[in-house]
Amino acid sequence: MTLITKAPRGTLDKLPSDTLKCRVIEENALNTAVAYGYREIRTPVFEHTELFKRSVGDTTDIVQKEMYTFDDKKGRSLTLKPEGTACVARAAIENGLFNEALPLKLCYITNCYRYEAPQSGRYREFSQFGAEVYGADTPLCDVELIALAHNIFEKLGIPANAYTIEINSIGCPECRRLYQDALKKYYEGFKDKLCGDCHERLERNPMRLLDCKNPHCGEFKSNAPVILDYNCSSCAEFFTGVKAGLDALSIPYKVNARIVRGLDYYTNTVFEFIYRDSSKSTDESFGLVFGAGGRYNGLIKELGGSDTAASGFALGIERLTTVIDKTGVFPLPQKPDIYIATIGERAAIFALKTAQELRRREPSIWAECDIVGRSVKAQMRFADKIGARFSMVIGDNELDNGTAVLKNMATKENKEIDLSNIDSFIG
Ligand code: ATP
Ligand code: MG
Repeated sequence: MTLITKAPRGTLDKLPSDTLKCRVIEENALNTAVAYGYREIRTPVFEHTELFKRSVGDTTDIVQKEMYTFDDKKGRSLTLKPEGTACVARAAIENGLFNEALPLKLCYITNCYRYEAPQSGRYREFSQFGAEVYGADTPLCDVELIALAHNIFEKLGIPANAYTIEINSIGCPECRRLYQDALKKYYEGFKDKLCGDCHERLERNPMRLLDCKNPHCGEFKSNAPVILDYNCSSCAEFFTGVKAGLDALSIPYKVNARIVRGLDYYTNTVFEFIYRDSSKSTDESFGLVFGAGGRYNGLIKELGGSDTAASGFALGIERLTTVIDKTGVFPLPQKPDIYIATIGERAAIFALKTAQELRRREPSIWAECDIVGRSVKAQMRFADKIGARFSMVIGDNELDNGTAVLKNMATKENKEIDLSNIDSFIG
């Protein structure tokens, strides 16, 4: 196949049956978020490269390997957004949104771009729903965020036992310093067995060692020191508060001390939503992470804003689609309400006018008529194929008499209707 008929590697065409699923997820997420006080924000597809270097962090896979970075015609370095959090933070600082009443709650749906090795559930262009809260530094804020995600999954019909909410606390920068030292000491012992990337991680940011996707390096994770043991007393108390809040809302969770998250700006609470196909593997490490988030108190100041607490999560819409497909609850696509088949020019114009009237109603009625010039037999075959609920055939006789026969396509029941009474057209 030539290049012009092949989409770039790692991208997905979302065909009508896919966009329908995306719409269900997106509308559900946005509508649910409204009930928690979120307002939608949309930010540009590209930002100054520096924004992601500063926020996501120089030592992360995203910044080191995955960004789509280019110079514009004036030589400015720009990057297609690899994630949404930094962009929303930048926009909130720039537009003075932190001067509004706090906490400020913003949500978004956006495409993200990462140059990754494409595989199932991992694309170079993908989309996220995200939610961010600013100006609330409490366990209850994190609980409310997890509750929002849980509510979205529930409204989408994902059974609570189909996924787990896994939480951890990566503490404050002080706890992390001690932990990084311990981790470094531990991994030094296996230095010659680690991959090239992990050698660098060991020097520059040992916590990233736990994020390595190379199975050989993965072997060392199970005995590595865990961050929870290094949480200071106030971070430990914060984490206890998160767990108590989830308990109070009867939201099931598991503490997973291995979750560290790939981004540099996280503090305290981190969490992931993980789907495990029980028919496929009993291995706990195997699972589809379809959403993740946490607290990132350091980011706003790092980007030049005032010291503002922040917490949020992002859901991968394509991965969420997979989870819903497996747990099986997408609504069926809509079908046309009526097909008006015609014989002759006069009837064709009448049908088009009538369809227009039906389509102008509120809510619109999905009406179809022939715009191809088919025979009446072919029109009826088409009506059947597209699953129209009702049909009628209009010709000169019907127009002269002012009546026609309305057919219920499922029951085959016929009913005579008055052509001047459009309300009678759909049963
Ligand atoms: P992973 O560990 O799978 O690489 P991540 O830690 O890089 O995930 P985040 O940056 O937290 O992911 O992004 C939030 C969510 O976005 C993920 O939980 C996932 O659902 C989705 N996501 C991330 N990268 C991709 C991708 N390349 N393709 C599709 N979805 C993705
Ligand atoms: Mg990743």
